[in-house]
Amino acid sequence: MNPVRSQTRNEAGDLLFKCQHCASSLVVNAAAAGMTLNCQRCGKPTLVPMVSASAASAPQELTDLQRKLKENESQRTEITGYINQLSIQLHRWKLRLQTLNERKTELEEELRKTT
Ligand SMILES: [Zn+2]
Repeated sequence: MNPVRSQTRNEAGDLLFKCQHCASSLVVNAAAAGMTLNCQRCGKPTLVPMVSASAASAPQELTDLQRKLKENESQRTEITGYINQLSIQLHRWKLRLQTLNERKTELEEELRKTT
C-alpha cells in the first residue's frame, strides 16, 4: 500500500537524512554516521548525522509529512509556473490590443481625411 514505508528505516539500521545543500532525502548505512558523503542528487559533500533522531521518534509520520510537504511544494511550483506563463501571455495580449487600438485611431483619422 505504501511504498515509502520500507525506505524510512529498514532492519539493517540505515540512516535517513537530508542533504545540507539540496535537501534531498538520502539513505545510507548506519556505519556511515558522522562521515561526509557526496550527495547522490547534487554531488556536493554533506555530513551524515550520527542518528536520524527525528526519523527515529516518529519515522512513518515524519516521512509522510515530508512527502506531503514535497508534493505540496512541487504543486505550488507548477501552479506558480502556470501563473507566470499566463501573466506574460496576458501582458502580450494587452500590448497587442494597445497596438490595434492605436492602428484603429490612425485608420479612422485617414478615413476622415478622405471623406
Ligand atoms: Zn544534495
